[in-house]
Order: sequence, then C-alpha cells, then structure tokens
Amino acid sequence: MVCKDLVKFVIDPDKCTACGACKRICPTGAAQGEKEVVHRIEQELCIKCGACHEVCPPKAQAVMIVPAHAEHNGGGD
Ligand code: SF4
Ligand code: SF4
Repeated sequence: MVCKDLVKFVIDPDKCTACGACKRICPTGAAQGEKEVVHRIEQELCIKCGACHEVCPPKAQAVMIVPAHAEHNGGGD
C-alpha cells in the first residue's frame, strides 16, 4: 500500500452487509454502526491500521482504500 497519509478507509454503503466485523476489530472505535445498519468509518478516529479492510468478508468487500483527498466519505449519514 502507498503511504497511509495519502489514503483513507471508507465503507461502500452499497456493499456493506452490516455484519459488524469491522466495528468489532477496530482498535479506536472509528468503525461504527448499529446492527443491520450500514456501517461507516469516522475519519477523525481512524488510524488507518487496515484491520477493517482485512476483516470485511470477501463476499462484501465493502471497505475501500481511497485517496485521502477524495470527497467520498462512505455515506451512511
Ligand atoms: S483502518 Fe483501523 S482504525 Fe481505521 S476504521 Fe479500520 S480498523 Fe478502525
Ligand atoms: S466488515 Fe464490511 S460488511 Fe461488515 S459491517 Fe464492516 S464494512 Fe460492512
């Protein structure tokens, strides 16, 4: 992966199955969401460890690594 300062992790709301795996593994509480509701990543809290990306089920692949300056914030508001 390129320099972490240049990327951010966002959840694609169209792919997220709300399984909660990212929320459970996230060390900072940045990955947030309620049961059966699309999850989101609070960028202010995210340390870009990549754990959510690792744990997101292959069939969902909802956690995206995108350029840090991208407008996309994963939605979910
Ligand atoms: S990259 Fe790490 S800190 Fe950021 S949301 Fe994912 S698990 Fe949490
Ligand atoms: S691990 Fe992936 S599918 Fe599961 S809640 Fe997080 S982003 Fe959504």
